[in-house]
Formats: sequence, structure tokens, C-alpha cells
Amino acid sequence: MYKVALLIALSFCLALAKHEQYNGFVLYQVEVANEQQAQQVNALENQLGLDMWSHATPTRPGLVLVPGPMRQRFQRAIVATGAQYEIQVENVKEVLDLEDQLLAAASQRSNRTSGRLSFDTIHRYERVDAYLVELAQKYSTVSVVSGGKSFEGRDIKYLKISTTNFQDSSKPIIMIQSLIHAREWITLPATLYAIEKLVVDITDRDLVDQIDWIILPIANPDGYEFSHTNTRFWRKNRSTGHIIANICLGVDLNRNFDFLWGTLSSNSACSDTFHGSGAFSEPETAIIRNIVNEYRSRLELYLDIHSFGSLILYGYGNGELPANGLTLNVVGVRMAQAIDAVKWDSNPNYRVGNTALILYSVSGGASDYVQAVGIPLSLTYELPAYRNQQNSIAGFLVDPDFIEQAGYETWEGIKSGARFVLDYYRSKK
Ligand SMILES: [Zn+2]
Repeated sequence: MYKVALLIALSFCLALAKHEQYNGFVLYQVEVANEQQAQQVNALENQLGLDMWSHATPTRPGLVLVPGPMRQRFQRAIVATGAQYEIQVENVKEVLDLEDQLLAAASQRSNRTSGRLSFDTIHRYERVDAYLVELAQKYSTVSVVSGGKSFEGRDIKYLKISTTNFQDSSKPIIMIQSLIHAREWITLPATLYAIEKLVVDITDRDLVDQIDWIILPIANPDGYEFSHTNTRFWRKNRSTGHIIANICLGVDLNRNFDFLWGTLSSNSACSDTFHGSGAFSEPETAIIRNIVNEYRSRLELYLDIHSFGSLILYGYGNGELPANGLTLNVVGVRMAQAIDAVKWDSNPNYRVGNTALILYSVSGGASDYVQAVGIPLSLTYELPAYRNQQNSIAGFLVDPDFIEQAGYETWEGIKSGARFVLDYYRSKK
């Protein structure tokens, strides 16, 4: 009995110790009145070494994570720019504990098991990995492929979904991936929901029959698991190949692709946007490159799903438009309208545009690379950050109530893109 009590006490202490690294961290919302203020505020990211979750623009506030000891300095810097700040979360550790509790409680309430992965919680790598294998065993339209291993040796598996076993060369292929950035947990239900609608609960038969699908739910498994077990806001992979002074490791995989590599990203291993030692230095990005190259002749649409910001973005990250920029804009707007039609009122409408023009300049991004190698339609989604006013959950934090909705509404966007592809593909034939 004594032992049991001790164990309970110990696990309670461990639970409390979790997220200790975020104890006292403050989450600020920053509003800027003009472009000049925006530039000054966003420059604080490098000046103060802050984790800027979203950049402030004159039309939308930004969210910034600030360590407790830096809060006075940060506030003074904001005031000096003329911008305004508001504290969203006083102590981020408390909201992280709350997120754990909400997700655990939601997963206990879940009673849907029969052959599906529930949309009540955020599933871990092993569960998703096993699910992909189960689907391939159960459904003749599905095969599961390992693209290779992550830095730490986890299989990076993807599904191929096809009624013709990928043998009909007249069909277009659509590829969707999520979780290239570890902390963007809400993106996982988007790919899992697409799998559900293409395999388990088919409501749009034409999309299953006329298109071959490649779906890669966990593009960065090492970083993803680390964001569950250690550091919730981990973004990069866990590569130690570029380690500096035993402190900084990991590469931002979405800066590691071979398109303008190293020009609009960080060369510091300590940065969250560190681009690695060379294009495709990381196994995770090489795997995506290989999939794209293998299916290049029929791949018509590629979607890289991120969070957050309610955005649909297209290339290029340096502000130059691809030759079919207008088409990218049209398909992006159609997708955005399809999502907006069913989104929750509390979330903003999606915005659509070139990455550099409506977000910021970047290089080495996955969707830019895919666009540049000749895939007609390559877009990045930034899913909404659903903010529950009652519980302070914001930004990358997941409110379990939003999980299924995130999958559902994103699928509306994907469907709209898929139908565009069918029309576009046919008209080219
Ligand atoms: Zn991201």
C-alpha cells in the first residue's frame, strides 16, 4: 500500500515537473498600427532571441512567447515601438498542464474504436504508425510504405490510396503531409481525417476513384515525439549532426529543401529556423524529396499542412511568383472559400497569397521545392489557432473540442482542390 501511495505521489510530481521549462513564460499578443511598427516588433525575434509564434501585421496581431525574466525588457521594447501588447497567458506552464489534462480527459471519454482513429485527442507516433499498417491490412485500396528512417531511426510511413494500385497512369496524384514542424499538433487530425474520408467513411466516391493519393501524416516523427515527451514547443527535427556546444540541435526541416537554400533562413544551429548544413542534409527532407521525385510525372497537387494563422500560401518564399501564380491564387481562394463556409465563427476567414507577401520571406521550404521541380500546384496551409476564451488555450496549444472540426473543415479545402485538379487535369489531356 505504501509503495502504491509512493508511486502515485511520484507520478504526480513527475506530472508537475513536466513543462517546468515553461514555468513563468508569458504569452503576449501584440498589435501594430502600421508596417513600420510591425518591422520593429518582428525584429525583436532575433534581437531578444524570442519564439515569435506569429508575426504581427497591421491587420492581425502577433503572438510572442517570452521567458519570465525577459518580460520587463520585452514590454519596454514594445512600448518603444508604439505598438500595444496584451498578456494572453500569464504562466504558460499552467496552460500546458491544462492542455495535457484536457487531451487526457477527452481521450478517456472517447468510445469510438472500431477500426478508426478517434478525433478526440492528438495521437502519438506509435499509435498513428500502427493505424497506417492496420488500414493497409484491412483495405485493398491502401498500401503503406516506409519512405525511410528519421534521424533517430523511426520509420516515416505514408499511405498510398488508389482503386487501381497506382497503375493507372491517366490519374492525377495528390500528396498531403503534416507535422514537418513538430509542435503543430493540430495538423495531424487534418491528414488523419483525409485518410478517414478516402478509406473508412467514403462520401466523395469520385475523388477516390479518379485520383491516387499519397498521405504522410508525421513528416518529422523525432521532433513530434520530443514535443510530447520533453519540449512542447519544439519545432525542428532532432538531428545532432550540427550540434553546437551540446546545447543547440535540430534543423528546421522546412528550411532544408533545395530551393534558394540558405538565403532566407538562419545559419545558427541555435535558431528555430536553422537550415542545416546543406540542402537535404536531413533524412526527413530527403524522404519527401524522394517521394515527390518518384511520382513527379503525375503529381498535380501537393499540400504541406502547418499551423497556425488561417492562411493558404503559395510560392515562392522570396516573393517571386511561379509562372502559374494566378492559377495558384485561384485554387487557393477556392479552397479558402470552401473552408470558410463551414468554419467556426470564432475563427477568422482564411487569407490566400504568396508566402513572402502575406507572411514573411523564407527559403528552403518544402512547398517551394515541390513547385520549383514542376509540380503544378503546391500550397502550404496554416490551420487556424482555435482560441477558447474560457481556458486561455491559444496558438499551438490544442483544445480537444477543435480537433475533429480542424479535420473536417480542412478536408473541405482539400476536396475543393482535388476537384480543381480533376478539371484542370482533364482539360490538359
Ligand atoms: Zn510550420
